[in-house]
Amino acid sequence: MSWQRREVEMELFADYHTHTHHSHGRDSVEEHAHVARKKGLEEIGVADHGPASWWPVGLRGEAGWHRYRQDCRKTDQDTDDIRVLLGIEANVVSLKGDLDVPDAWRQELDMLLVGLHLEVWPKTWRDGSELVINNALGAKLSPRLRRRARNLNTKALVECVCRHDIDIITHPGLKLEIDTAELARTCAHRGTALEINSSHQYLQEEYITLAAKEGACFAISSDAHCARDVGANEKGVALARRAGLRPEQVINARGKRGGRGWRTD
Ligand SMILES: [Zn+2]
Ligand SMILES: [Zn+2]
Repeated sequence: MSWQRREVEMELFADYHTHTHHSHGRDSVEEHAHVARKKGLEEIGVADHGPASWWPVGLRGEAGWHRYRQDCRKTDQDTDDIRVLLGIEANVVSLKGDLDVPDAWRQELDMLLVGLHLEVWPKTWRDGSELVINNALGAKLSPRLRRRARNLNTKALVECVCRHDIDIITHPGLKLEIDTAELARTCAHRGTALEINSSHQYLQEEYITLAAKEGACFAISSDAHCARDVGANEKGVALARRAGLRPEQVINARGKRGGRGWRTD
């Protein structure tokens, strides 16, 4: 794919990353969908946190999952003019790329998002020491340990993308260093989008440029933790435009009618 820097008009038709009261967000699925519809979106993907997140961040066991699933499905049925997708922001819980979402849950999902977070229960003590302690302490102590943490973070995410059918990697590089080019190459190969997160202000144009050169696609998401913030993607769109992304490189974007990026094919 040829890639060149130029600003292109784009508009988003979906927001695939929001958190409701089912994990540590506020407001109901219905309220999130209501705001998304008011903001002109056609789809909303609710993506509450996987169960390995420390309490009270993750979905609360089997009973919590069932309440969440039913709430998403019912809201989707009850609302005609917006599609409500059932998603999860799963946690990476091992260096081998294991996720905290049981297979039975995964089969029900419309979207699988995965994020590398520190505040999780790892699969084993070794995974805990390599992923959690190494990032939380080691990376701050010496350049060597920092490089080691970066390599292990990248390895865990790459394994994960190779093993599972993941739609979006959320906030890559947030608080935890990764090799962007390597992750982007794997994501491009597997058809997994990298997120441009509109809430966390850590992302730089260089990261997007580097990932785009590897052929990766992107998703621009609000990571809203209350209904009011659903669809608040102005910062993400501005960043994508500055980095020269075209709408067809963003899975939830299209060119504005009349804009330079508009395509009818
Ligand atoms: Zn996250
Ligand atoms: Zn999130």
